[in-house]
Amino acid sequence: MPGESPERQSAVREKSWIEGRRHVLWRNERSSPGLAELEMDGVRVVKYVPDDAYILAVGPEFTPARRAALRMETIPARLKLSRALRRDQVQERQTLIAEFHPDVEPEVIRSIAAIEGFRVREHPDLLPNHLLIEGPVEGLDSLAQWDEVAYIFPASAELEENMRVVACPGAMTAQGTVGQYVAIVGDGWDGPGLGKAELGYFFQQLTEKLPAHLTRSEIERALNEWAKYASLNFTPAASPVSLRTLNFLFAAGNHGDGYPFDGRGRVLAHTFYPAPPNPEPIAGDVHLDNDEEWVIGPDVSTRSVDLFSVVLHELGHALGLGHSDVPGSVMYPYYRRHTSLTPVDAEAIQTLYAPAGSTETPGAPTPAPLALAITQPAVLPATTTASSLSLTGTVTGGSNDVWVSWQSDRTGAGIAAGGRSWTIPSLPLAIGLNNIILTATDSTGAQATRSFSVTRLAETEKLEIRILSPAASGSFATSSSLITLSGVASPAASVTQVRWQSSRGAAGIAQGTSAWTAGPIALQPGVNIITVTALGASGGSASASLVVVYSNVTDTTPPQLRITYPASTNVLTTASSIRLQGTASDNVGLAEVVWTSSSGASGVATGLASWSTAAIPLLRGTNILVVTARDLAGNSTWRSITVTRR
Ligand SMILES: [Zn+2]
Ligand SMILES: [Zn+2]
Repeated sequence: MPGESPERQSAVREKSWIEGRRHVLWRNERSSPGLAELEMDGVRVVKYVPDDAYILAVGPEFTPARRAALRMETIPARLKLSRALRRDQVQERQTLIAEFHPDVEPEVIRSIAAIEGFRVREHPDLLPNHLLIEGPVEGLDSLAQWDEVAYIFPASAELEENMRVVACPGAMTAQGTVGQYVAIVGDGWDGPGLGKAELGYFFQQLTEKLPAHLTRSEIERALNEWAKYASLNFTPAASPVSLRTLNFLFAAGNHGDGYPFDGRGRVLAHTFYPAPPNPEPIAGDVHLDNDEEWVIGPDVSTRSVDLFSVVLHELGHALGLGHSDVPGSVMYPYYRRHTSLTPVDAEAIQTLYAPAGSTETPGAPTPAPLALAITQPAVLPATTTASSLSLTGTVTGGSNDVWVSWQSDRTGAGIAAGGRSWTIPSLPLAIGLNNIILTATDSTGAQATRSFSVTRLAETEKLEIRILSPAASGSFATSSSLITLSGVASPAASVTQVRWQSSRGAAGIAQGTSAWTAGPIALQPGVNIITVTALGASGGSASASLVVVYSNVTDTTPPQLRITYPASTNVLTTASSIRLQGTASDNVGLAEVVWTSSSGASGVATGLASWSTAAIPLLRGTNILVVTARDLAGNSTWRSITVTRR
């Protein structure tokens, strides 16, 4: 966003008073699991967010990965700060209203404000989930990072000066009131785009506290005030249940809609939003608490309420507006007396309807749909060895200001720098699969998303490990029941650990890394293959093995050796070479079978217990071939044959 300070673009940090509790935004999207299943899983619905989303409270069992899988979004601190907050003079103290999620306990609310350096101001007319606080502007970001905080907006001068005010708890939907953070609901009575609406109005029940003709004329005056600024035409309707009709009802206590009035004071009225999202015929209906001391014009007592002011505010809701954050505007939730709409209200109603007197046809023009594009890299990598991604892109369509956020199922979430032209300099990647969602949001709350997956591969670093002692390779015989191996591993900076494992079951971690010592390792009688493995920082590994033969008696017994082919020890042949085959065995373990020829050639046979030589070249005349089997203690046995080439 233009003019934002850099720290507001940093990755989302969030604090929570109750360990593991999170308030998340969840869009219904008719997906599985549905809301009922989530509620059975311990999720609590805290607030309805039109058109089809909810603020949910979830417990610690909803890990970030699980929340991401269920498409539950934590609300970035950035979105909780009203655009109406003045942030230019950071040293200044301001009086603000902090709105908390309705399930947050009052003492928690007060503790959070105090921790963040805000003084709590008492006011008798505050709504239950609002706190009037005074504190430094630079503390706002930190306050907004609390999970419990839903929204922060400026307090009016009347609240600041401790004057009595009328409080509106918010426009009604069939699922309760909406939060201060909801600016508009739906598209207005004219549908999408800026059009014209023809609406009826009906007086179902008036109050006995005022002459009926005055009540009617005050309500009609309020209707006309809105029609001055927007293409709205109000005509008397035939019935309270007519479609597209604002029905005015004065009632006390329970009056049939599930939201009973509370007697004199506090809630004075409530109004249902247009259809959709609200169902007909209740959509657009204005209910006024008949227990109030309704008057026309200025206060006559501390409890009297001006009918025109309240109806003017409630009509804003009936036409589709939420609350304004701008103190003094008609749609601000706290007020005393209004005589006309303010420019802020006129601008707000013109985001839903064409200006009054305009010749626009209903439904047109619709702003271009919000679209999110990634321009760099041109092709997103499916795999990478890099530890982060750098992305840039654009947002087109939608309304006014836009912002882009990212969410990864592996590495958290953050906000892109910029607006319609955005940059994410470093989106961290975890080793393995990373599922990433980019979301563009515009000032009306419309969203466009791009999701993609990147697999980060562990860097294939050339790790090496060598055994230096007691032998570099091959096999080693010992009569000791314990052995210690030592060696080196490289590159030194990458080796995080060296482990050892014996083929006879034992395992452990070596001392040291680039120079390591493994053991003492307990040996079992016979062959023990000890394998050492170096582990690298990026997930790679390298191994080396040493065969250790342990005999608890000193081995002086030489191996058994037989040449099975040729069967005779004297052979006549015309061939230029011969392959020998045979068997060998030992009481402890064989080390090798080798051959030599009287011609000077020699070699190692393949196999031990059952061995064979390569083709041994024969000279014309007599060739004496000797095969030697050696055991691990160095004892040896030899056999020879004479081959005569003719
Ligand atoms: Zn209101
Ligand atoms: Zn009602």
